[in-house]
Amino acid sequence: MDQIKIGRFIAECRKKENLTQMQLAEKLNITDRAVSKWETGKAMPDSSIMLELCDILKITVNDLLSGEKVTMDNYNKELENNLLEMVKQKQKSDKRLLRMESLAGVMAAIPFVAGLVIGLFVPMEEWKQVVIVLSGMIPLLVAIPFLLRVEQVAGFYECQHCHHQYVPQYISVFMAPHMGRTRYMKCPECGKRSWQKKIINKE
Ligand SMILES: [Zn+2]
Repeated sequence: MDQIKIGRFIAECRKKENLTQMQLAEKLNITDRAVSKWETGKAMPDSSIMLELCDILKITVNDLLSGEKVTMDNYNKELENNLLEMVKQKQKSDKRLLRMESLAGVMAAIPFVAGLVIGLFVPMEEWKQVVIVLSGMIPLLVAIPFLLRVEQVAGFYECQHCHHQYVPQYISVFMAPHMGRTRYMKCPECGKRSWQKKIINKE
């Protein structure tokens, strides 16, 4: 996807509809800075507002992602290209998210381990030991909801029984026992419980 081209196209369509960046932003309930970022190719419109944006600009999502009005002859080809491109970008960002998650997990675990070691092995008054161990846990406790959220949305989990691949609910991820990123969860398709692996590429 060519963000610069898409940006120019958005600006062109907006002007055709006689809207300022501010007016378009107000219709979408976002800031005019966001609109300016799209139009200069620095960012893509979020998928959650893409349909509404296309509606206002009187174009299709396919037009938007192609950065031009797609003719009927090329419509399916362009659609396929755009879908493939979006899947590729999602896979790339999922991989990046999971790498970040590992790093954040390690960073948050360091104070915890350090607190445990100092609290247990350095001789000091008991209340101080408790304070040190507990405060070492804080970064981990703060990080856990974020880490779980990444695990939930990045990639998919695969059922061992029926090989159904899906994005689980946050609460399932939260409650499930895990070994690394493999989680023991109930499959929404066949209803059986199994150790489900995290996968990036849906097959
Ligand atoms: Zn299943």
